[in-house]
Amino acid sequence: MLLTTVVYSTIFVRLYPLFCQIRLSSHNLEIETGRHNNVLLNNRICKLCKRDVEDEFHFVLVCPHFEVIRKRFIKKYYWQKPNVFKFVQLLSVHNIHDLCNLGKYVYFAFKVTLGVSPLFFPFEPEY
Ligand SMILES: [Zn+2]
Repeated sequence: MLLTTVVYSTIFVRLYPLFCQIRLSSHNLEIETGRHNNVLLNNRICKLCKRDVEDEFHFVLVCPHFEVIRKRFIKKYYWQKPNVFKFVQLLSVHNIHDLCNLGKYVYFAFKVTLGVSPLFFPFEPEY
């Protein structure tokens, strides 16, 4: 039990900044980059699926481009018939396992979206 807690704590410390990027809107999704480039809100479309405005909700629960990663790391309850209420619930979880999985989701989704080198991050989480 203690070992599990220590392992999760170590992973959590490394993944927490990724989780915070979504919570604090400190990322490079179109919703933020468009704001800095004076792009109208409705034109801040996801470049991967071109279906919707690329905001945190779309990135975490909706974009079909991340479906495989989403199914691996986020519970079905959240992404099946997603809504803002479920999204807020997901970002408010206190379970360290769920937080780690959300951090892993953000890591792999950013890696797919931005092509960010794993060297940018302090480690490569297990998939
Ligand atoms: Zn998309």
